[in-house]
Amino acid sequence: EQPIVTKTLLQEDSGEVSLRPKLLSEYIGQEKAKENLSIFIQAAQRRGESLDHVLLHGPPGLGKTTLAGIIAQEMGVNLRITAGPAIEKAGDLAALLTNLGEHDILFVDEIHRLNRTVEEILYPAMEDYALDIMVGKGPTANSIRLDLPPFTLIGATTRSGQLSAPLRDRFGVTLRLELYTPEELALIVKRSATLLNVPIEEDGAFEIARRSRGTPRIANRMLRRVRDFAQVKGDGVITKELADMALSALEIDYLGLDPVDRRMLSAIIEHYSGGPVGLETLAATIGEESITLEDVYEPYLMQIGFLTRTPRGRCATQKAYQHLHIDYVGQLGM
Ligand code: ADP
Repeated sequence: EQPIVTKTLLQEDSGEVSLRPKLLSEYIGQEKAKENLSIFIQAAQRRGESLDHVLLHGPPGLGKTTLAGIIAQEMGVNLRITAGPAIEKAGDLAALLTNLGEHDILFVDEIHRLNRTVEEILYPAMEDYALDIMVGKGPTANSIRLDLPPFTLIGATTRSGQLSAPLRDRFGVTLRLELYTPEELALIVKRSATLLNVPIEEDGAFEIARRSRGTPRIANRMLRRVRDFAQVKGDGVITKELADMALSALEIDYLGLDPVDRRMLSAIIEHYSGGPVGLETLAATIGEESITLEDVYEPYLMQIGFLTRTPRGRCATQKAYQHLHIDYVGQLGM
């Protein structure tokens, strides 16, 4: 049994492509980002130019790749998808860039993980649509400039704080994606259910939505698991009762917290008197990677007010104590 909350893609996510909305009008939620984007897209089209470089940031599974696809579709251009760690050498990036057509979009996921040399190739590419290539070695070495077609770089990152300032400054548009509300997620679940041909009741959709921690990818994963359950234990229709039964069996509680969330919170409470405790220490205590805790778990725990980040570390709030049925004694010495 694979956990539903993960940093990496699961086998079952391969069906994601078919669930991805293709047009801005089909993209649910993120109203502010959509509004801005639609203006930038129209403006670029009127001027016959490529869209300004766009930086998307927010936790995994919120729809960054989906949005890149939509932008390409709306602009009527091609999309090339790659990821920061996949571009190892300057030549890899040069190959990607020289293969772009006019106004095409290069999507670089996890752009904060680009290495230094590759990043430096990117600066003139973004700014002047040019590649500076070194030819030869030693005293006769020479740099030649290759022109690139005007293109748009869309960078996605879970942590914009880790982006170098020169790279961040070269994006004309920065859009921050927010966790979705249960109402928005219910719409996403119903849309996916229609595409997957799964009958679902209104409160069944809401039950999944409420437990999917603000994240469409998790909502879609839960929908698939609950569908299996509904087919085996019920008559195939996803009702509130079936969703509840399936998700409880997966140890996901009514707020969407999974065993890792609960271990994390109870470790802060039981081993560190509610905090503050440093992220690395906490990660070591519960045997998880700190990056996973930070990118995948913390955004939701902070959103629902169970966790705070202070300069001295993470703290569990009174609400977290209540949820775990632990008496809150207040923080000593504070
Ligand atoms: P990210 O790139 O941020 O990790 P994705 O773009 O891969 O996330 O989105 C994950 C899944 O969630 C996609 O399969 C898509 O179907 C769904 N999804 C994301 N955002 C939306 C949205 N606003 N409306 C509908 N479905 C969405």
